[in-house]
Amino acid sequence: MIRNPYTDMEDPPRIDALAIAAHPDDVEQTCGGTMIKLAEMGYRTGVLDLTAGDMGTRGTPELRLEESDKAAGVMRCKFRGNMRMPDARLENSLAGRVSIAAEIRRLQPRLVILPYWEARHPDHYTACALGYEGSFLAGLAKLDKYTPAHRPRKVIYASQYASVEPTFVVDITSQFERRMEALFCYESQYGNQKKGVGLFPSPGEVRERLETVARFYGQKIGVKYGEAYVVKETMAVDDVMSLGVRSF
Ligand SMILES: [Zn+2]
Repeated sequence: MIRNPYTDMEDPPRIDALAIAAHPDDVEQTCGGTMIKLAEMGYRTGVLDLTAGDMGTRGTPELRLEESDKAAGVMRCKFRGNMRMPDARLENSLAGRVSIAAEIRRLQPRLVILPYWEARHPDHYTACALGYEGSFLAGLAKLDKYTPAHRPRKVIYASQYASVEPTFVVDITSQFERRMEALFCYESQYGNQKKGVGLFPSPGEVRERLETVARFYGQKIGVKYGEAYVVKETMAVDDVMSLGVRSF
């Protein structure tokens, strides 16, 4: 477990919202705008990456960790950790679930953001299962007797790249530029360089792709940029007169 020396200043660094993802730049592409927005609202946010991208064509794991620390600062996170699980061959193992549960007990998030449960990259759907099952295990008192049980109140799934209708969309119009800035902290992945040319899109192309996706979801709620989420539970409404998003 590698911890960010800049953001992990307190022990325990209790946080309100924790995003769990497979690779160091996943959060920046799927739910980073929401993380920034939550931090701006005064919530304490954190990111737990499961791998350091050690199978990546470009860069080294050490470099990815350095870049992810920088990106965490840009996203105003209070915590960023990396579990150093094996990249591109992530497994939903008991050891993996228990170590995620231990982090959840330590950080005590009320909200957990996971990748959507279906994806092209096996690490993404495996990270979803690990995050969900780790969150469940964290609530079992007998898991270990030294740390108090804690189960997040809510799990939401970042569905930006899944072909599903979102349950809700978060307006990230004011956070979009900062999210791009966080993503481009990964210079080893998105900088203009020779290694991997042809395999990797240029920075301009990356920006255009992310902008297109964010605009697509933004227009669904009548704003410029949005981030899409799915929840498994039914959403409750108290005042139907105040429902958001116009019909006409
Ligand atoms: Zn990924």
